[in-house]
Amino acid sequence: MRRDKHFQLSREAVEKLASQYGTPLLVLSLEEVKKNYQVLKKYMPRVRIHYAIKANPHPEILRVMADMGSCFDVASDGEIRTLNAMGVEGGRMIYANPVKLGVGLEACRDCGVTKMTFDSASEIEKIKKQCPDATVLLRLRIDNSSAHVDLNKKFGAARENALALMLQAKQAGLDIAGVAFHVGSQTVSSDPYLHALDIARGLFDEAEAAGLHLRILDIGGGFPIPEPKVKFNLPEMLKQISARLNEDFPETEIWAEPGRYICGTAVNLITSVIGVTERGGQPWYFLDEGLYGTFSGVIFDQWDFKLLSFKEGDERVAATFAGPSCDSLDIMFRGRMTAPLEVGDLLLVPACGAYTSASATTFNGFSKARFVVWEEVKEEVMPVAAEILAPAV
Ligand SMILES: *Cc1c(COP(=O)(O)O)cnc(C)c1O
Repeated sequence: MRRDKHFQLSREAVEKLASQYGTPLLVLSLEEVKKNYQVLKKYMPRVRIHYAIKANPHPEILRVMADMGSCFDVASDGEIRTLNAMGVEGGRMIYANPVKLGVGLEACRDCGVTKMTFDSASEIEKIKKQCPDATVLLRLRIDNSSAHVDLNKKFGAARENALALMLQAKQAGLDIAGVAFHVGSQTVSSDPYLHALDIARGLFDEAEAAGLHLRILDIGGGFPIPEPKVKFNLPEMLKQISARLNEDFPETEIWAEPGRYICGTAVNLITSVIGVTERGGQPWYFLDEGLYGTFSGVIFDQWDFKLLSFKEGDERVAATFAGPSCDSLDIMFRGRMTAPLEVGDLLLVPACGAYTSASATTFNGFSKARFVVWEEVKEEVMPVAAEILAPAV
């Protein structure tokens, strides 16, 4: 298998799965999850991976990641307790939400989670009160206007306040161990990472001079998956980040918090056309999955999903795609070029695993899309190898 090929079902597999399990259907490849984890390990061998489970907390993904020895990035009491119930020790989790709830810190005490991030003085007080033995990392703000989803608009201490906050955490009796950042989700160049490493190096030096020896650097998530019309070279990016880590942080323990990269390409959605109409001279296609379901990523993740119809012929029309609910907001795509479709046609949406089902709702009484694990069903639906390996964009 070439490393730049990702999980994508063939037309035959899509048809068989749809007739066997119905639609909307989410098909999860655990082999793809494993491969994604291994790619990150291969190109960044010193980095301890903490899967950011908010991207997709499906229990089978958590299980596979736990079995491979991954650590986890958690953000709430619910995520901590879910992993704890699976037998993942608190030592393998970082509570990487810089603004924590009381019940979250309580879950830390119950489950043995001691590693956490902070970016304000008010958080130091909370941690000191509820988890006085915590090991803390300062979350640093890294401006990156090129990020697909820029988390630095909400989180992170300004560089000029960083040392004072770290000294304050030390005063409060916390084990101040290092620095964390997140360059923004779906970052398609190594530049923002290298820029962040420069800033972090300066801060490590400044801390050392102030008598604070830092030993952990958490480079966050942001690692990209293939995206229509966007070109990048992931192995090259990871090699550059890794080389810089070796140069500038040879002795430091390095962590990362990938979310999207681990799960994004591991899920394919199969959805059906349930209604067709025409408005203002444009076809409208209604699907059995919408904005309140898997396509919630259109809103929360500003993601532009690929739709494959398996139609032959060259005819293409600009169409509107809407979901099944009675809300007029439930429109996913406008002016999207597609082959003409009919009721009953199946569409395949590859690379549909990150920030999709995780934010789906049951609004209007529609069930969340069912999941099947590809490796468990493929023998039964496809006696011969059925996934085609699509080139990474
Ligand atoms: C969401 C999040 C991640 C995961 O980011 P991706 O872009 O999906 O890799 C990692 N760390 C923190 C603190 C996050 O909030």
